[in-house]
Formats: sequence, structure tokens, C-alpha cells
Amino acid sequence: MRVIRRGDRGPAVAEIRTILVSLDLLGPTDPAHLDDFDADTERAVRAFQQSRGLSVDGQVGPETWRALDAARWRLGDRALYHAVTEPLIGEDVRALQERLLEMGYDTGRPDGIYGPRTARAVAQFQREMGLRPDGMCGPQTLNALRRLGRKVIGGRPQWLREACALLDAGPDLVGKTVIIDPGHGGPDPGIVVTDGQQRWTEAELVYDLAARLEGRLAAAGVRVYLTRGPAPVASPSDLARAELANELGGDVFISLHLDSHHNPAADGVATYHFGTGNGVTSTMGERLAALVQREIVVRTGLRDCRTHAKTWELLRLTRMPAVRVDVGYLTSPLDRARLIDPLFRDRVAEAILAAVQRMYFPMDQDVPTGSIDVRALRAAVAAAAE
Ligand SMILES: [Zn+2]
Repeated sequence: MRVIRRGDRGPAVAEIRTILVSLDLLGPTDPAHLDDFDADTERAVRAFQQSRGLSVDGQVGPETWRALDAARWRLGDRALYHAVTEPLIGEDVRALQERLLEMGYDTGRPDGIYGPRTARAVAQFQREMGLRPDGMCGPQTLNALRRLGRKVIGGRPQWLREACALLDAGPDLVGKTVIIDPGHGGPDPGIVVTDGQQRWTEAELVYDLAARLEGRLAAAGVRVYLTRGPAPVASPSDLARAELANELGGDVFISLHLDSHHNPAADGVATYHFGTGNGVTSTMGERLAALVQREIVVRTGLRDCRTHAKTWELLRLTRMPAVRVDVGYLTSPLDRARLIDPLFRDRVAEAILAAVQRMYFPMDQDVPTGSIDVRALRAAVAAAAE
């Protein structure tokens, strides 16, 4: 083919422009200039060449044309597989490679070519997801990728298995096992604050919150276990709490604590999930923590102290998605006034229930934060039980 450059007009230019628009490199086109290779088109071609590692001259020669042609494919447009003689090339292959790389699979450099390494990575992903590991990216594999959503990144196979087990469980809470872990207890009161005649302890407040959450989860058809009673003779170690959760076969683990600070102005809610902070993370733990964080912030107005990755024993040794919530500062007069109010603790329990429910929605059916009516949920479960 001849080289198409600035000043050219015609159907080939219109085709090039259409592809550049679909790649968001060029704004929507004025119909009068659709087939006009103008300055904007040249700029877009340069940007495209740069992004594809081609020599940047702003002209469309055979090599740039092949790359533009391949860029037309969107993931899901066609089935992808490793063809030995003439490998499949396209933007869809590149999107697949980037997706797999994000999830920790070794596809090599995302070059848009479906080679043997890409096929091996696809087969490994399929095995982790319980699909037939044929190394071909067909509808089932695409569906599994889609269901995992963009949020599931930085994962490792064991975390993907967590995700897979959860998604296969469906959006229903009935029959799930949730472990609630009220912190401290017995001789260990946790944070203690005296307020005139009143004495507030973290251990008692989080136990009460755990009991409120237990009631709501049970009403939604969930099997619930607490890691300790209201007044244990000793506070179980974090290791013992994690081992108990594993033995009970928990699907979700929720640890409840309060925070403290010498500065009474410190306040707010924070959540923690397992992760090292440099890419290794429990993907579903992170999702659970983010959901709990957002639901509590939206439903209670506590300050958003965000979600953090930690390698704490409690989070590291539990074999299910696990979150620790620090529900406000007992040392903050503002937070304390809320925390000692039973109605406020009810709202926190409803927020956590909504977050757990959202864990079981496929990503593409997820709902906005604060929108789940937990009363309607309860009524639906009651109706189903009749
Ligand atoms: Zn604590």
C-alpha cells in the first residue's frame, strides 16, 4: 500500500480516523472532515505509533496500518487461541494479556500477539477458575474474566480461588458462614476510657456490636460464630482466633475493634485487609474491606480513615476473606458519644451486613453504597423460609 499522510483525503483516511476515534485518540469527527487527514489526525497517528512502539512519523505506512487494523478488535469480539502458523494479533489480545498480568499471570510482554506464553497463562487462569485448561479464550473464560471485574488486581492464585469460590456461591447469603471476632475480652479490656462515673471499654462495646451484627446476619440466613463470649476467662490470641475461623470453615471473617489516640481530636473508621503494600494482597479481603469501609462511612458519617493492607497474624492466617474494622476512636469525644449509643451501633451492624451482602453480588450487578435496604433483605429471607 502507499503511505497515507497529512493532506490526503478519501475512504482510507475515513477508516483510519474511525479507528483512532474508537481508541480515544481522536475526538468525535465533524462529518464534513471525516475523510480529511488533518493536523489532528496526524497528532493522533503519532500518539498511536508511540503507544505501539512504532517509529513515530505521523504517517500511515504498511506497518502502522497493520497495527491500526489489529487495534479494531475488542476483547470479546472473537474467540482467541494460539494459532501456530499465523498467530492472532489484536487489541483484544493485548487487553487479555494486560488483564492476566494484572492478576499475576506470566504472559510476557503485552505485545498483542497470542503466542504460546499467552496460551499457557490462559490455561493457568482456567485451572485456577475451575474451567477446562485448553489455553483458548472463549466465552466461558471471557465470562470468568468479566465477573472478576477490574478491581481484582495484584492477585495470586490462592486469592483467585477465594474469589472464585465466592462468585460461584451466588448472591445468596443463606447457608454462608460468617465469623465475627470481637477484639480483646475477659482480663484484656482493650481501650478503656472513663467519662465521669462511666467507664467504657473496647472489649464490651465491640462485643455488643458483634451481637447486633450476629442477629442481623442470622436473620438473613447466615450461620454465625463469634470467636469469644461476652466474658471469657482469657482473651484468645490472634492465632487462636484465626485457627478457630479456619476450623469452622468460615466464608468471611470480620474482626471488630476500636481505636485510640492521645490526641482526642483523632476520630474516624478504618479497615484492614491482608497485604504487604507492594502488590501481594488478598483481593477479596481488599474488596471486603473497601465495601465495609464505604458502607460504614456512608451510613454513619464517621470520618473516612480509609482501607489499609497489613500482614497481621489475624489477617495472614485466616483462610477466607478477612477484614478488621476499627469502628471509631474511643478517645474521641465525638466518636465516643456515637459509639455508646445503641442505635448508632445498630447502624454500624447494618452497614457491615450490607457490605457482606455486596461481597456475594457479581461485580457487574453491584449496587451503589448505602443503597441496600437490609430490612427488605430480611423480609425476603423470611418470605422464602415460609
Ligand atoms: Zn483493639
